[in-house]
Amino acid sequence: MTASAEYSRRYYERHAEQRRAESRAYRAAHREEVLARGRAYHAAHREKLNADAIAWHKANPDGRRKSSQAWKDRNPDRVKAAQANWRRDHPEATRGYHAGYAARHGDALRAYNAKWSKDNSARLATLARIRRQRNPQQAAGYSNKWRRAHPEEVRAFSARRRARELGAAGSHTVAEWLEKVALFGGCCAYCGHSDRPLERDHRIPLTRGGSHAITNIVPACRSCNSKKGARTDIEYLGRTAA
Ligand SMILES: [Zn+2]
Repeated sequence: MTASAEYSRRYYERHAEQRRAESRAYRAAHREEVLARGRAYHAAHREKLNADAIAWHKANPDGRRKSSQAWKDRNPDRVKAAQANWRRDHPEATRGYHAGYAARHGDALRAYNAKWSKDNSARLATLARIRRQRNPQQAAGYSNKWRRAHPEEVRAFSARRRARELGAAGSHTVAEWLEKVALFGGCCAYCGHSDRPLERDHRIPLTRGGSHAITNIVPACRSCNSKKGARTDIEYLGRTAA
């Protein structure tokens, strides 16, 4: 190194901060010009620059990850936009990814969703009410579809409502009702027919203080249920036996 080159290097070292500040000020004052020069340089040396960048990335896998992560940390909005664009351009892969994730984490997802729904039940109820008010026809459509798919739940719901209206104590689940029907072999508890739709009969009628608990329920066909009327099972069977 010549004496004068050595002198310059020392000078620059001593004035490094000052030089950086001057350079920043120059770039700020000539922003467009600096950017245009940069673009022109990149355009003129595109292939070499790309090759250099690829070589650097290959040689520095960690540095690449770090600089990529640093860029992502600085630009969260652009990351989100890029991900949204990718999902929009790759709907199949996105569906596949979601399905795969759901398959791998099904139980955890269900538990999470159940907890979330429970924690937000008031909010969900309000949202559902607003949706029904805004679009009553659609709501009725959903509701009809659900009712067609869940006939047992629908019957259980009306039975429970009637029991509540009559001030009955006790309640039972759809599963308990289906168990009770199975216990009777799918037959009416009074006439023994198995080829008729079965209704809940309250052995002690609700109108006489009977409970809606499963212990007070037997399956009965429409005909027996209406003939029995306001009698208890013992009163009704006593009469039919006589
Ligand atoms: Zn019957």
